[in-house]
Amino acid sequence: MNDCIFCKIVAGNIPSYKVYEDENFLAFLDINPKSPGHTQIIPKKHLRWVWDVQNAGEYFEVAKKIALAQKKAFGVDMVRSQIYGEEVEHAHIWVWPEIEGNSKDFEANLKKITSAL
Ligand SMILES: [Zn+2]
Repeated sequence: MNDCIFCKIVAGNIPSYKVYEDENFLAFLDINPKSPGHTQIIPKKHLRWVWDVQNAGEYFEVAKKIALAQKKAFGVDMVRSQIYGEEVEHAHIWVWPEIEGNSKDFEANLKKITSAL
């Protein structure tokens, strides 16, 4: 999938604000955030849908880890999550804290989340 933007992010061909990374999954800040700290969580392997991820339990554990870090980082109780899938044809989960603020201050928002992980 040469033209998949998320595969390019995984390969490092497109820069991203990496929130979390392990052997199978990558989390990075959404470049068009709904709120400060809006994060995309994706499998590193190109899969079309979240439901195609074999180790889905592990995938959702990563999503939970990010959501809990966002709660702590931004001092909020509510973290929204959403799974659509049509924007980019590579499985992704969105998690974003219910908070006002400068969502485009990527460096600062990244630092807040990673230090709460
Ligand atoms: Zn892909």
